[in-house]
Amino acid sequence: MAATFAEVLSKLGVTLLSGGATDVLTPVSPVNGLPTQALPVHSPAELDHMIASAQSAFHRLRVTPAPVRGEVIRRLGLLLRTHKADLAALVTWESGKIYQESLGEVQEMIDVCDFAVGLSRQLCGLTITSERPMHRMMEQWHPLGPLAIISAFNFPVAVWAWNATLAVVCGNPVIWKPSPQTPYCALACQHLLTQAATGLGEAFENVSQVCIGGVHLAEALADDRRVPLVSATGSTQMGRAVGERVARRLGRSLLELGGNNALIVTESANFSLAVRAIVFSAVGTAGQRCTSLRRLFVHQSRLGELQAALVQAYTSLCVGDPFDAHFHVGPLVSHAAADSFRETMQRAIAQGGELLCGGKPVKGVGSGAYLEPGLMFMPQQTDIMHHECFAPLLYMCPFLDLEAAIAAQNAVPQGLSSAIFTDKLQEAELFMSALGSDCGIANVNIGTSGAEIGGAFGGEKDTGGGRESGSDAWKNYMRRATNTINYGSQLPLAQGIEFPKL
Ligand code: NAD
Repeated sequence: MAATFAEVLSKLGVTLLSGGATDVLTPVSPVNGLPTQALPVHSPAELDHMIASAQSAFHRLRVTPAPVRGEVIRRLGLLLRTHKADLAALVTWESGKIYQESLGEVQEMIDVCDFAVGLSRQLCGLTITSERPMHRMMEQWHPLGPLAIISAFNFPVAVWAWNATLAVVCGNPVIWKPSPQTPYCALACQHLLTQAATGLGEAFENVSQVCIGGVHLAEALADDRRVPLVSATGSTQMGRAVGERVARRLGRSLLELGGNNALIVTESANFSLAVRAIVFSAVGTAGQRCTSLRRLFVHQSRLGELQAALVQAYTSLCVGDPFDAHFHVGPLVSHAAADSFRETMQRAIAQGGELLCGGKPVKGVGSGAYLEPGLMFMPQQTDIMHHECFAPLLYMCPFLDLEAAIAAQNAVPQGLSSAIFTDKLQEAELFMSALGSDCGIANVNIGTSGAEIGGAFGGEKDTGGGRESGSDAWKNYMRRATNTINYGSQLPLAQGIEFPKL
């Protein structure tokens, strides 16, 4: 028996915030379709105060040595290990993803904490040779300023961790506007970070703040010049709106937006690996990952066997209570999402698609939106396949020529994740080359979803171009200063310019 929402909150030490406020948000849990607990929405004046507090926090944090900043993140990682099960339960209550995947999401937070702690001793710049004698050039990376994080419902804790852990070791406080669907996840993370900072001194006061509310708060953050960087994760529509606002004041934005991910199965593909990868990528998180597999291009010679195997796999999927380990797929986030899933299927059928299996409602828990994942055969890629439908709907198209399949994969506006299944080196290398996938993620013999934190995560085109998490994504959260130092007694000018003597 899963702990109730209130029990989970209490274990995490989060107070139920109903208060007497008139402007409240009442999230509905996808698990049972019932409201959880109303909480007050922050006013624009309160947000303004938070931004001012973040500025003061920045002045303290930027002069705190990076390895000391790393200490708060090390402590956060330890607290997350202790509270992994409870935080994961809260993620399931608010997002609806199955508990195993919620545990994975919290593990991702722990992993990125470890990564950020290591980085806190590795924020290094280049030393560059100078064309002038007795000169040296170098780069330094300095803290940037308060960071706004706008996040989506489907990764209600990991996206904050990707951004906040790196931002803090880089010397920046954060203000987080979570999805209105998952506010308690944000309050729980905030509580853990506050605990981590306890006893570490005033350097860490207001190192993280949470503002609860809707679009107007995100817009205010996007417009505010005191916030040099806005990291926004969500739909392309949201990213375009936020990106435009931030660009208008010449601020920086880090955009992680919608995907429309494809997987190519070639003639030589390892069949059993491919089937497992396809099913997890397409139905994991009920198809509500930005990296969920939506388009499958299958070599004509493998179509029959793959179709049969996928239909068999899809019909054996169990859809139901995300807390029950027996079920592979939980609910969609809302009935609106389920309506969009059904409408998209109808449009795909009108464009020549054939529903092979799935797509029907399932009796889940209470009035949650439970549906069988859908598998649809499309003779060719049509207009509907250019859109991200945030639900477990997988289109399958045949191909004869790999280059044509890569071109079809790249023909959509989004460019997040992609994969090829092949045992041929030439095909794998072509797919990963400049002539291959145009996505930020291009995998060989693994699915499109489930990235590790060590690599830079993000995508091109309508996915927004941002990179978060591993590799050198930390550079997003810092400003680069190029320093040229003259240790000689002359003043030679660059490019050999001779300035007439005065
Ligand atoms: P959403 O765009 O509806 O909302 C995301 C956040 O943006 C929320 O906090 C919301 O309040 C805010 N928001 C919405 N419209 C806004 C606007 N016009 N101006 C300012 N803020 C606005 O997204 P969602 O439904 O919560 O999440 C699903 C989407 O997120 C999918 O498209 C998915 O692909 C994408 N996503 C992308 C990534 C990635 O890393 N690329 C990760 C997770 C989710």
